[in-house]
Amino acid sequence: MAEELVDGFGRVHRDLRISVTDRCNFRCTYCMPAEGLEWVPRDDLLTFEEIARVARIMVERYGVNGIRLTGGEPTVRANLPVLVRLLADLGTDLAMTTNGVSLPLLAGELHEAGLRRVNVSCDSLRPDRFAELTRRDGLARVLHGIDAALEAGFDPVKVNCVVMRGVNDDEVADFVDFGRNKGLEVRFIEFMPLDADGIWTNDLVVEVDEILALVNQASPVEPVERTSAPATRYRFADGVGSVGIVASVSDSFCSTCDRVRITADGQFRNCLFAVTETDVRALLRSGAGDDEIAAALEESVASKWAGHQINRVHFVRPHRSMSQIGG
Ligand code: SAM
Ligand code: SF4
Repeated sequence: MAEELVDGFGRVHRDLRISVTDRCNFRCTYCMPAEGLEWVPRDDLLTFEEIARVARIMVERYGVNGIRLTGGEPTVRANLPVLVRLLADLGTDLAMTTNGVSLPLLAGELHEAGLRRVNVSCDSLRPDRFAELTRRDGLARVLHGIDAALEAGFDPVKVNCVVMRGVNDDEVADFVDFGRNKGLEVRFIEFMPLDADGIWTNDLVVEVDEILALVNQASPVEPVERTSAPATRYRFADGVGSVGIVASVSDSFCSTCDRVRITADGQFRNCLFAVTETDVRALLRSGAGDDEIAAALEESVASKWAGHQINRVHFVRPHRSMSQIGG
């Protein structure tokens, strides 16, 4: 049995993203349709025990050392702190990506259960625009959620901002100021072709160089040495804070990717853009032992491609949207 989840290009995978639900209380235009999108039936969702079992196999056999909860909106899954406690027992770096609206209520409980890092998605600091983008009037609550996360002791708290041309690219400087004032890192993310409505076009993507220029205009930055994390990080030259840019489209981070995913309905994915999946739920529910499950995970990772092909003729969009995969 291999000690590592390694693919044919020598990339060792140690970062697991777990989607705990495909449901969401927002409907961001770049992610979900205004209406529709059938939810996964409850019985098809992995139970907390099933999630914890797969995570344990990955941590104990393959040295997975980072777990991030995502969705859909992870905080709409009932009793989330119970799952956090199970995963915290595995001793990994435990994080969550959330839209933030439930943090005023849940931040303390989640932190107490063992969650340590949180990314809050926020794409506009203007209430009207925020409501247009998320199709919910929720900016005040999200900002309150960010404060609640900071107060609860999450470290770091980061803000994810998907930058879209002509939509919110005039707010990069505002986000820079916001992050520096609050003492948190903003991560600007290129818009990826994973929206449910198929509104993505290359013209809407604001590429890393342009985002970096806007950041520099707001306050000069210098690069921080790159790690396997998808964000390229920069520190502000005056020593006050840092920002990240995730160049997922223009300068794909595939060559250093160490990430695998499990969807809310138990499908293991070796890439965000994968078009095939491994049915781990079926294995779990057919009485498979740990060795059998581990072998399926190894086989999936071994077959991983070099990288996504966005903007090439042979690019095929995955059949699931971001909210169904788990961003
Ligand atoms: N609901 C949670 C949230 O919004 O943070 C977690 C799930 S969401 C799918 C995870 C991340 O994916 C968010 O930061 C969101 O902004 C990002 N995202 C969603 N659709 C995207 C797209 N088409 N391109 C780039 N990022 C996207
Ligand atoms: Fe929901 Fe997050 Fe997708 Fe927005 S980005 S619709 S909050 S899953």
